Amino acid sequence: MNSQAKLHVLVPRAEIDSTIKKLAAAVTRDYNDKNPLLLGILKGSFVFLADLVRQLNFPLEVEFVRVSSYGSGQQTSGKVKMVQGLKLDVKGRHVLVVEDIVDTGITLAFLLDYLKKKKPASLKLCALTDKPSRRRVPVKIDYLGLTVPDKFLVGCGLDCDEKYRNLPDICVLEE
Ligand code: 5GP
Ligand code: MG
Repeated sequence: MNSQAKLHVLVPRAEIDSTIKKLAAAVTRDYNDKNPLLLGILKGSFVFLADLVRQLNFPLEVEFVRVSSYGSGQQTSGKVKMVQGLKLDVKGRHVLVVEDIVDTGITLAFLLDYLKKKKPASLKLCALTDKPSRRRVPVKIDYLGLTVPDKFLVGCGLDCDEKYRNLPDICVLEE
């Protein structure tokens, strides 16, 4: 973070709320009798996952994995590291991965591959935002909230050097 950083709101909170309601309706339709495991990718997804599960009124479980691809800057290193893997057996479970943003796709491609090897009954992806212009690896997003432009975003769980995750809106950070 630097003192000259400027923020402007790209997606206001009300639009995030209505987007999450629509996603929750689709997830409910597909998972309400499946006791799914919602798997958040730390840290960015914690806000979206918390918002999403509070719109889901059926039995489910929540788990997290932590991966890191970014250093402290705004560019992906291109390498993904599993910082905290799964502590739970997902064999035969319906796993729904919950992610804040899909950018190059490198993180998700790595994670979905890691999870597939654990033989879940089903494996799908729910992402709040997608930046398709930056994709380097194809990723199928089964439930998508919003398509966003190629800007560096913060807020609603997204950080810059660990700051701004608490902003309620999704904002563009301009240095
Ligand atoms: P990918 O591997 O798809 O390039 O990157 C996925 C991860 O990069 C996201 O989970 C997120 O942590 C980070 N990321 C990608 N784009 C942005 C962005 O615009 N802002 C922030 N704060 N993080 C981003
Ligand atoms: Mg992330």
